[in-house]
Amino acid sequence: MTSGFERGAAFVEGEYVPIAEARIPLVDVGFTRSDVTYDVVAVWDGAFFRLEDHLERFERGCARLRLRSPHDRAATTKILLDLVRMSGLREAYVEVICTRGMSRGGSRDPRDFDNRFYAYAIPYVWILRPEDPATGMDAVIARTVRRIPGDSVDPTVKNYQWGDFTRGLYEAYERGGRYPILLDQAGNITEGAGYNLFAVVGERLLTPASGTLEGITRRTVLELAAEAGIRAEAVDLDEDLFRTAREIFATSTAGGVMPVTSLDGEPIGDGRAGPMTTLLRERYWRAHREPRYRTPVDY
Ligand code: PLP
Repeated sequence: MTSGFERGAAFVEGEYVPIAEARIPLVDVGFTRSDVTYDVVAVWDGAFFRLEDHLERFERGCARLRLRSPHDRAATTKILLDLVRMSGLREAYVEVICTRGMSRGGSRDPRDFDNRFYAYAIPYVWILRPEDPATGMDAVIARTVRRIPGDSVDPTVKNYQWGDFTRGLYEAYERGGRYPILLDQAGNITEGAGYNLFAVVGERLLTPASGTLEGITRRTVLELAAEAGIRAEAVDLDEDLFRTAREIFATSTAGGVMPVTSLDGEPIGDGRAGPMTTLLRERYWRAHREPRYRTPVDY
């Protein structure tokens, strides 16, 4: 495709544009009210990873918020494939968004809005730099902010309500770390700024059962753990139990399986990625070559 698209491509108002030229209308309430849901899929080595699972989650999120994307699954798939093909990116971060959109005739009734669809593909994003798998994430359990309660903002609907995470990020930086972990009102571990969490406690691999996005990477790890004969469980993960973990890792489409090597300034285990984290990380990236998970892009 023509120049301008190498840095990424966007689909806005029915047109493909270079990412630098992509614009949204100021009065879209996706922006002014965070009335929106979205999803992020990775392209790895020229193929989408678990595209159907991401689109299914996106459709579920739209339904819960009573949003109607103007594009069905087949049309959405075509748009995403087009975006990646136009950008030429072999490794990409691909986002699909549905907003409440624009009011018809100035009404404030959410039923009177024309919902809007946006999508874009940019180079792959790493929450933890790929050259740092052993160094890992320096995490901080936030003390000044908790995760917004799930009965206020449903964490299983992927959302832009990041006020709690942003506060957590600032707290983490002030305390010498970079990666916040938020507790819920009961003091259980939830998730961080764009990642789910796992802890190896004794022989068990634990992850929070609720209060989090049901991450596709988390699901992949649970499946890979089952295949590897690892006992994995989704539980209410109390902060004290979490602190006894010999390994902790985070999961996200933006970075995969990422070791947490320190917590509140103290090393986890020997301060390097542990054996279960390393095994699951390797299997996660190997799974990207398996046809069952891949939707190849025809460049
Ligand atoms: N939790 C939150 C709040 C997120 O924003 C994300 C991803 O962006 C995740 C968890 C990880 O989800 P996934 O593995 O589907 O990327």
